[in-house]
Amino acid sequence: MDCLFCKIRDGQIPSKKVYEDDDVLAFHDISPAAPVHILVIPKKHIASMKDASGEDWALIGSIHKAAQHIAREQGIEESGYRLVNNCGPDSGQLVYHIHYHLLGGKNLGPLVA
Ligand code: C5P
Repeated sequence: MDCLFCKIRDGQIPSKKVYEDDDVLAFHDISPAAPVHILVIPKKHIASMKDASGEDWALIGSIHKAAQHIAREQGIEESGYRLVNNCGPDSGQLVYHIHYHLLGGKNLGPLVA
């Protein structure tokens, strides 16, 4: 399977890692859209939110928990942040390994302009 984020998980492609536990990995987005832009992924390969089922829902919870922790560490807990998952073509999903964008460090404005 040729998955960019699996390769990052396995260390085959370098990343600026900010968090890791048994189930979750987080690293800086290579093309940041905000002062803080971190991708939070499950280590398990799940292509997209539409493919999640069963035990995957606990992993999604772990991602949210990790994001809360990272936001605190990044100093954006009080100013606020956005946690975004893109699912499928209309969302603009480019990498088919579930990931959440943790964005903050500025006023992000409305979700849809
Ligand atoms: O949600 P979507 O699939 O569009 O987001 C993919 C994200 O992965 C982009 O924000 C892109 O900048 C990021 N990326 C990365 N490192 C790479 C390739 C893509 O952080 N090597």
